[in-house]
Parts: sequence; structure tokens; C-alpha cells
Amino acid sequence: MHPFTLERPRDAAAALALGAGPDGAATAYIAGGTDLLPLLRAEVGRPERLVAIGRGALDASIEVGADGALRLGAAARMSDVAAHPGVSAAFPLVAQALLASASAQIRNMATLAGNLLQRTRCPYFRDAGSPACNKRRPGSGCAALEGSNRLHAVLGGSDHCIATHASDLAVALVALDASLRLRSRDGERRLPLDAFYRLPGDTPEIETMLAPGELIVAIEVPPAPAFAHRSQYLKLRDRASFEFALVSAAVALDTDGARIREARVALGGVATRPWRLRGVEAALAGGRAAGTAYRAAAEQAADGAIPRRHNGFKIELLKRALVRALETAGARP
Ligand code: SF4
Repeated sequence: MHPFTLERPRDAAAALALGAGPDGAATAYIAGGTDLLPLLRAEVGRPERLVAIGRGALDASIEVGADGALRLGAAARMSDVAAHPGVSAAFPLVAQALLASASAQIRNMATLAGNLLQRTRCPYFRDAGSPACNKRRPGSGCAALEGSNRLHAVLGGSDHCIATHASDLAVALVALDASLRLRSRDGERRLPLDAFYRLPGDTPEIETMLAPGELIVAIEVPPAPAFAHRSQYLKLRDRASFEFALVSAAVALDTDGARIREARVALGGVATRPWRLRGVEAALAGGRAAGTAYRAAAEQAADGAIPRRHNGFKIELLKRALVRALETAGARP
């Protein structure tokens, strides 16, 4: 492993001063380390300084406010959020997505912000010996385009990268219109999570709107009482646990039992970023809360998809996953 120094700032201000790399040292933030450490071991990343920003340096609070909004400190652990009674009661989609993620041991270590910023599982990205990966080495090509691409994206890709985004939590949060609070040495700003993730285009190495040295300090989810009862996070994968999604669907329905007033739909495992399906939501709104309506709306879920040699199965699978998640959510009392 490449040698590095480890700094333990006492708060966010001290972390930001170090994270800006004032002495020119290549610097990375580390919290739970569940994604970063394997990358360092594989020599995919070679920072000279790590700045520890786990609990202590950053807020780890979990709070459902009097207005019904959810506010999560960036350093809150995945397991703590999943087990929080206010989260599971008012935002079950968030709890379900967290419990579908990784393993219990990893959820006990990983922070929410770290989960949102985890890197892709593309095997060519994670193999420092693989010569062609634009995300790891800009301009080197993309081995997945003509190589093994069963796990890769059918939506949102480009000729430069087709890697999927790996976070389950991000899919649920995008469906619920969550926002991030981002802090730099110049102050704080708020950004919708759906606007945070970039498409790869011709710069797949730039994955988010995060500025150099900037930190996620909190995640905010607006009140969603109408969606609290009828929501479902469905994750389909090669094995039942500790595996990343081939396809996942986050759905939430506001219904009067027979008709859908409003729907929220997002997909994971099939796109280069969490994939909100606003067209499907519009098709569902005002229609019957029934299988025929779900199937009709799901037909447009793969619009614009580009299947590659090994991943064409995802197009039918994502539609079926979406229908099943809608049926499960819609059947709740
Ligand atoms: Fe690299 Fe993206 Fe191609 Fe994977 S899909 S090899 S991450 S450029």
C-alpha cells in the first residue's frame, strides 16, 4: 500500500483546512473506510494524506423533526439510521435500502456520506493492473465496452464509461427528493441529491458536483407522510446478501386505495447514477393502483437504454422489478 499520513481533525473546520491540501499533498477524506481502504490496498488510489472525518469531526445525528423532515448527519452510521424507529416509521424506503446494503459488519462501520460517495464496482476500475479505464486513468479507454459488461449500465452511459453507481441508499434518497448540505471553507450550500451525481460524458473521472476539499455534512429529506405506508425498495442480485444490485427499484405511492395520487420511482444497478423515472411517475399519477397500470407505466422505464454484449437482460429485468416493487407497495394496507 502506498504510504500516507493520517490526520484526525477535531471538527469540520479543521478537516476542511486539511482537506484543501494547503501544502500540495494529495489528500483524501476517510470516515468508515469500508470503500476507501480496499481501494488503497489495490493501489487504485494513492493519497499522501488521509483526513479522518468520522464521528467526532462530523455530525452523526439522526433526527425526524416536528415538521416531519428527516435530517441525517453525514457521519451517521448506516446501521444506526436503519435501526432508528423514526426513520423506519416515517421513511421506510430509507431503512429498507440501508438494510439491503452490504453486510451487517460493513453497515456498522460505514457512514451515510461515505455510502453516497462510494466508487463503482466495475472490476476494471478496481484492478490497477487493467490498462484501460477512463475513470481511473482519464484518456486510457474503457475496457468494459468490449469486455465483460454483465454488471454494467444500460442507462446514462457514454462511449467513455458505462460503470453503474453502487449505492442503494442514493436510489431511495433520490426518489424522496433528498438534498445534501455541502460545506467548504467558503461556507455552506444545499444541493438536491438528484443534481449531485454527474453523468460520465467524456469526463467519467468527475462523478459528482462536490468541489475539491468540499464535504457533505448532512442529508435532508423533506416530509413525506403520504409515502410512509406504501413504499418498497426491491433489490435483485446474484446472491441474497452482501452483493451489489443487478437491478433495484425504489418506489413510493400515495394512493386512496384505488387510485394513485402521486408516485416516486427510481432505479439502481442499471445506470451510471441513481436513475429517477419522472416519466413513469407521471404515467402512474391519476391511474389505478393495479397491476395493469403498473405494467403499462413500467414499459417506458428503459427508454433510451443501450444494452451491451452481456447486460441486455437488465432491460426486461428492470421492468419486472419495477412492477413487483409497485405491486408490493400498492398492496400495503
Ligand atoms: Fe473504467 Fe468506467 Fe470503463 Fe469501468 S466502465 S472500465 S469504470 S471507464
